[in-house]
Amino acid sequence: MLDFISPDPVALHARLRPEALAAVDLATGRRWRYRDLDRDVQRAVAVLTRDGVTRGDRVAALARNSVHQVVLQQALMRIGAIFVPLNWRLSLPELARLLLDCTPRLLVADQTLPELPPGCRAMPMAAFTAAVDAADPAPPCLPHSGMDCCIILYTSGTSGTPKGAMLTPQFLLATAVNFNVLGEVDTGAVFLCDSPMFHVIGIVTQIWPPLLRGGRILVSPGFDALRTNDWLGDASLGITHYFCVPQMAEALRDAPNFAPQGWTSLKALFTGGAPNPPAHIRWWLDHDVRMVDGYGMTETGTTLGMPLNPDLIREKAGSVGLAGPLTAVRLVDEEDRDVPDGTPGEILIFGLNVIPDYWGRPEERGRAFTADGWIRTGDIGIRDPDGFISIADRKKDMFISGGENVYPVEVEAALVEHPAVREVAVIGIPDERWGEVGCAFIVATAGSAPDHDDLTAHCQRLIARYKVPKLFRIVDKLPRTGSGKVMKHLLKQAL
Ligand code: ATP
Ligand code: MG
Repeated sequence: MLDFISPDPVALHARLRPEALAAVDLATGRRWRYRDLDRDVQRAVAVLTRDGVTRGDRVAALARNSVHQVVLQQALMRIGAIFVPLNWRLSLPELARLLLDCTPRLLVADQTLPELPPGCRAMPMAAFTAAVDAADPAPPCLPHSGMDCCIILYTSGTSGTPKGAMLTPQFLLATAVNFNVLGEVDTGAVFLCDSPMFHVIGIVTQIWPPLLRGGRILVSPGFDALRTNDWLGDASLGITHYFCVPQMAEALRDAPNFAPQGWTSLKALFTGGAPNPPAHIRWWLDHDVRMVDGYGMTETGTTLGMPLNPDLIREKAGSVGLAGPLTAVRLVDEEDRDVPDGTPGEILIFGLNVIPDYWGRPEERGRAFTADGWIRTGDIGIRDPDGFISIADRKKDMFISGGENVYPVEVEAALVEHPAVREVAVIGIPDERWGEVGCAFIVATAGSAPDHDDLTAHCQRLIARYKVPKLFRIVDKLPRTGSGKVMKHLLKQAL
């Protein structure tokens, strides 16, 4: 028996607004009205089923962003098969391991191929595109359950090996609804999509909210600060929503053609995925850009987000806002008891936007979920009396110095306010006297050489003494994941 039907907004908008522009491939200039997009998805269904792809099969992609990758994802959903977009920044052996984990029938790629597992065939992305263009649309598909897995998305691997999160149509729909309500998305929305499609932001958050509403996606092959600045300032594109990780926002700001006064159609610059220091958020607001931080994980899609009200953004800078309408949040202590407002606790999430399970990891479910189905995020949050939540840090990254909890994110936010600090990551290291103390790895701004005493004095002005790092190391760069997150376990190993 069917429970909840897999949603198909492209098919619906092909009837509601067939002539409306749905997608533009910024690399080629090719444009799709909703009627074209719907037809191409149904053509892709024909191509894939001719290739033997059926319900439950996995089809992986190793490719730069393109509208055809969106077409592939939508077509697989109509078939009831599972899309697996892979991170092309990984090494070939890492990719081969992920392919062995998800055992796809087909790999669509525009990159160097890793070793393929038995039963997997590779198809160049260009061949897929050409086949779609040449095919006749398949007959309409029967609806599928919205509770079955439709995308396997590997987590970023910030804290270890990536895990395959099993996304369902229900997850995609809930993420889109959460984002649409919090981010004020309507039919006139135009999303610039240059976050890589192998992350949840790239394949879900920047695609599903506009497609659900009948808005428009402008797909770029990838982030490039100069190009993105140009697009954001191009009135003929009319971009209303742009989603990036904080590192990308920094890169836009540092590029020579940065001119936010020309971003006239942009409602807000949405960030998430990594800590965004309050000083940065205020800086953007001072330059008339509403920078809206939100929180989510591969396992939960869009979960929390700041409202778009500039007064609130300034007042609550450093907060990731409120839960979307389909989501509930709890903050709990070590015994899973709810903590009062103002007290740090682990964030637990429940809602239609949460994955049911991890792919092929039966042991992970018990660890990751409470008995009554709340997912343990591993992140520490604090709720203020108005219900706004701030992310203190990952539980794993917190350390204890002289009996006091230290959240490195708070220390980092203080340090980036120093003019000589360009990037910083703080970790706890063992110390005979205090148990643990902070060690800050700093990338200095060009031409400056911050010294220990100056940095210490700066921190002491902003944060409690026990939080001030005892060690400062100047480094050329920080080890980051493909999406710009600092891999702190590598910093620990390097000491
Ligand atoms: P892995 O689970 O493989 O270690 P990961 O947790 O980095 O990698 P993602 O699912 O991409 O993989 O990232 C989710 C995490 O990113 C959250 O659990 C949280 O730690 C962090 N995060 C997301 N949004 C924010 C934010 N706005 N501020 C601070 N941290 C955030
Ligand atoms: Mg994680």
